[in-house]
Amino acid sequence: MINPFSKLGISDDVVNAVKDLGFENPTPIQEQSIPVLLEGNNDFVGLAQTGTGKTAAFGLPLLELIDFKSNKPQALILCPTRELCLQITSDIKNFSKNTSGANVVAVYGGANIMQQLREIRNGVQIVVATPGRMLDIIGRKAIDFTNVKYVVLDEADEMLNMGFQEDINDILSTTPDDKKTWLFSATMPPEVRRIAKNYMDSPVELTMGTKNTGNVNIEHEYYIVRARDKYAALKRIVDFNPEIFAVVFCKTKLDTQDVAEHLIKDGYNADALHGDLSQQQRDKVMQRFRDRNMQLLIATDVAARGIDVNNVTHVINYSLPDEIESYTHRSGRTGRAGKTGISICIVNSKEIGKIRQIERIIGKQFTKAALPTGFDVCEKQLFALVHKVHNVEVNENQIEQYIPRIMDEFAELSKEDVIKRFASLEFNRFLEYYKNAPDLNSSTDERGERGERGERGERGSRTSEGYTRLFINLGSVDDFTRGDLLSFVCNNGKISGKAIGKIDLKGVYSFFEVENATVESLFNNFKGVEFNNRGVRIEKTADTDGGGGGRSRGGFGGGGRREGGGYGGGRSGGAERKSYGSGRREGGERSSGGGFRDFSGRSREDRGAGGAGRREGGSDRRRRS
Ligand code: AMP
Repeated sequence: MINPFSKLGISDDVVNAVKDLGFENPTPIQEQSIPVLLEGNNDFVGLAQTGTGKTAAFGLPLLELIDFKSNKPQALILCPTRELCLQITSDIKNFSKNTSGANVVAVYGGANIMQQLREIRNGVQIVVATPGRMLDIIGRKAIDFTNVKYVVLDEADEMLNMGFQEDINDILSTTPDDKKTWLFSATMPPEVRRIAKNYMDSPVELTMGTKNTGNVNIEHEYYIVRARDKYAALKRIVDFNPEIFAVVFCKTKLDTQDVAEHLIKDGYNADALHGDLSQQQRDKVMQRFRDRNMQLLIATDVAARGIDVNNVTHVINYSLPDEIESYTHRSGRTGRAGKTGISICIVNSKEIGKIRQIERIIGKQFTKAALPTGFDVCEKQLFALVHKVHNVEVNENQIEQYIPRIMDEFAELSKEDVIKRFASLEFNRFLEYYKNAPDLNSSTDERGERGERGERGERGSRTSEGYTRLFINLGSVDDFTRGDLLSFVCNNGKISGKAIGKIDLKGVYSFFEVENATVESLFNNFKGVEFNNRGVRIEKTADTDGGGGGRSRGGFGGGGRREGGGYGGGRSGGAERKSYGSGRREGGERSSGGGFRDFSGRSREDRGAGGAGRREGGSDRRRRS
């Protein structure tokens, strides 16, 4: 049987390479664009979502059209972000692994330019670049584009959103007039149209799906909650989806940090990705996410551009994007490579108008969904656990030696009792947390009142205490993110994440707040602690007041900042802050197995269970209306 890629005109070397990648059949965009691009004499506009197989759609034809006997740049691929640049480069290297003489270079900012210049000097045919660094290299007269025959503008709308219009103009002006330009974009705003008009000659235009239609594999849902309940709603959505692997979008860097920090403290496996992190830190966060050592990536739009991680189950819009067009990019992080995904918006009632605007842009309707009740979450978690127990792989050799003792321990119990106890291990923790869980859906008065009461109950479970601000001689140069520092302090200081307040990560040192009551034991436990063979030092800072309201030098001193640190409903009110995961954390801390003290990136399922709890009765299952 002829390989479907061969049928499209791809040569054996490349066909074998994509076969090794597991590509059996071309995706629709590949099927449509490869034959057109292989002709090599057309400008081209492809309107396609991310994750649809775009890279191979232009990458495979390029490999057929380039003369690999010559070592001069013949194709230039411009894309908006370093991540995407590296991804495209790696994909093309994979596609060309059997193609002799093929050289691809990635040119992007934030990395050593000398190395990139060296690679260029050694001879390359395909340059994959972000606009800023490309211009820098052109400015140094370190590259010769006179032989460029093809320019690919990937995620053109993103490049324009990011303000690269002028850079693109300048770069294109250094390439020959008779080159062919292939433009790919998820959306077609007027600025992209203008590029097509200005730089292209009667381009062949292909639209994958209906124009501006979101990926058909993505379902779109929205939940209406009061602004101050956003964080609780996020946690409930996550708890209701035990296997979630999601990107959570926030508008600002501060929000990503706040949300990630609270999630980490509440025992979730999360971290933030934003532009203030060094490239090394961003790489580290992304690697953890790619390796699925992290369940929730909390990101800004800019930082998440170009993220190419398959199997993301959900995109959660913790806040809606300012630019409605950005929604398409956000949601495109799920539903990739033929998989299905869900894009969720957590909105307040005033934002419904924006949902309608997004619907018009993506040409698809949202489903209004209701947040699951506490009961629903408990039930879902219980059956996820049952499923896990049922499917767990038993290592007969290892477990065998313990079986007699285990049997002994359970001798008094019936099979039913044993099953009940196993199931209760994890279930109790959720029951405990959700026993008084309010209905978070912003709907009827009756529910609203009940919600308020329940919420106050949750918030009231812990009173605000004083914090002490401590200095630590570790920081971002040690490759620490705030989450890493939190784990490090909790693990070595043997304190719970709940006792930690604001973390202010600096370069060679950092500050963090800790509850007054735990300061002494923290100091004791930190005696002799080392990091990379270096003694770790913690000290009280001069400006700590142990709970007063004054702002410290770093702006995070004592109770003042902590109370002001609330979010999701305007940064106000200590009660807001206190409410974060109070019940959940307490559940964790009561656990016998160390509860949420381990922030080392293990999933919550690995952590201890809470005490017994009462189930809140409720028949209000998650519903769609
Ligand atoms: P892209 O849109 O190029 O970022 O591709 C999205 C994902 O789909 C990547 O992980 C690709 O490796 C994968 N992919 C692309 N083309 C195919 C194909 N024909 N069959 C299977 N997977 C593919």
